[in-house]
Amino acid sequence: MSFDTLGLSAELLRAVAGQGYSEPTPVQRAAIPVILEGRDILAGAQTGTGKTAGFTLPLLQRLAAVPRTGKGRHPVRALILVPTRELAAQVGESVATYGKHLPLNSAIIFGGVKINPQIQKLQRGVDIVIATPGRLLDHVSQRTVDLSTIEILVLDEADRMLDMGFIRDIRRILALLPKQRQNLLFSATYSTEMRQLADSLLHNPAQVEVARRNTPAERVAQVVHPVDRERKRELLSFMIGTQNWRQVLVFTRTKHGANRLSEQLEKDGISSAAIHGNKSQGARTRALADFKAGAVRVLVATDIAARGLDIDQLPHVVNYELPSVPEDYVHRIGRTGRAGNDGQAVSLVCVDENKLLVDIERLLRRDLPKVVIQGYEVDPAIRAEPIRKPRAGQGNRSGSAAGNRQGNKTVHAAGKHPVGKSAGAAGKRPAGKSRNKPGNAPGRGRGKAPARGNGARQVRAR
Ligand code: AMP
Repeated sequence: MSFDTLGLSAELLRAVAGQGYSEPTPVQRAAIPVILEGRDILAGAQTGTGKTAGFTLPLLQRLAAVPRTGKGRHPVRALILVPTRELAAQVGESVATYGKHLPLNSAIIFGGVKINPQIQKLQRGVDIVIATPGRLLDHVSQRTVDLSTIEILVLDEADRMLDMGFIRDIRRILALLPKQRQNLLFSATYSTEMRQLADSLLHNPAQVEVARRNTPAERVAQVVHPVDRERKRELLSFMIGTQNWRQVLVFTRTKHGANRLSEQLEKDGISSAAIHGNKSQGARTRALADFKAGAVRVLVATDIAARGLDIDQLPHVVNYELPSVPEDYVHRIGRTGRAGNDGQAVSLVCVDENKLLVDIERLLRRDLPKVVIQGYEVDPAIRAEPIRKPRAGQGNRSGSAAGNRQGNKTVHAAGKHPVGKSAGAAGKRPAGKSRNKPGNAPGRGRGKAPARGNGARQVRAR
């Protein structure tokens, strides 16, 4: 099936062709004709499915087809609400790319940067606003944006906006919109709160479902490596080195944890950058650009910062710490296996996290394979410790306490990762030295790691 059959205008087809897309993705096939008809939609689609083009293309067409209406010289006609700055920037880029042959303009509105350039842009007149809720409300209170002329509202990654506590802001924004409008709601997961929002917002929506609910992308190979809490970093460096991973997105629960891990990896000689809400927008953009360009091998991120990141062909996602909210696991691994590429999601799980793992497996409705990496066997003497809740704004909502001892069936891998080939390399290396020396067994030889190969178990005093 080609894009021509979806009812899109010549200008949009030209823009799509310019992107090199040969055929629409399932969400685009399902959503574009319905949105063009003017209907509300409720779409269950994760990032990576092509959902942004799925709503942007028909939105642009509808705006371009009808002359500007409403009061004022140049009213805002479409509002796209997103949870994070990064997603705002990416959706804004898509709007500009797909709309480049149309006489429509847009503004990207998010916090953490100066408000004045945004005000100037709005004053010049824009058709489409792509915004995070908080900064949009700042503009509302300064009367620098008027939302009373909105014809189309998009809530993108609505579940994430709810997770991040934006429901009040969303309700305030909804109250400012005209009653007569088209509503498009995109969400990867459906909680009760999401359903309530959808019910209150949407009128007779078409339902578009492209991935099974709460299930991760089909093409992602998932594996859990049980490991001791204090040996996670060592194991991560080992895996990056031995598997020769060139581009890895690593998740931590907290901003502090992201910074610390990134610094430690740098000490291990693995180029790394951290991305989280405490970083300036400039630093976040730079880190992402370096990562995309391959200048930085590992991007360590918190859930919120990583939300909506669009990195083509990201091959590896590592859960350095499991998320407190099981749905975040689905979001995290959705960063890999995107747009038809195979991906690999690795979770390093220590005894403290067993309860979190059980919650995730319950959500997925299946057990994840457990594979012990030789040399990194779990020390049964180590007791579970409570997981500290991230401080407000640190990462996620609820933190979950420590769980039971590992009760899951475990497969032992003989010094080899189950997916991809193991080159064999030193587990831990002196700071700043080159890695990937072939021929060394895990954790053996140079560096501080004790020899733990051949199944030998050692209790590490810490
Ligand atoms: P999204 O789910 O909107 O974040 O899109 C994920 C990725 O898929 C982005 O890099 C898009 O550029 C890409 N993409 C969107 N539509 C298509 C398509 N029809 N064919 C190939 N790639 C696409």
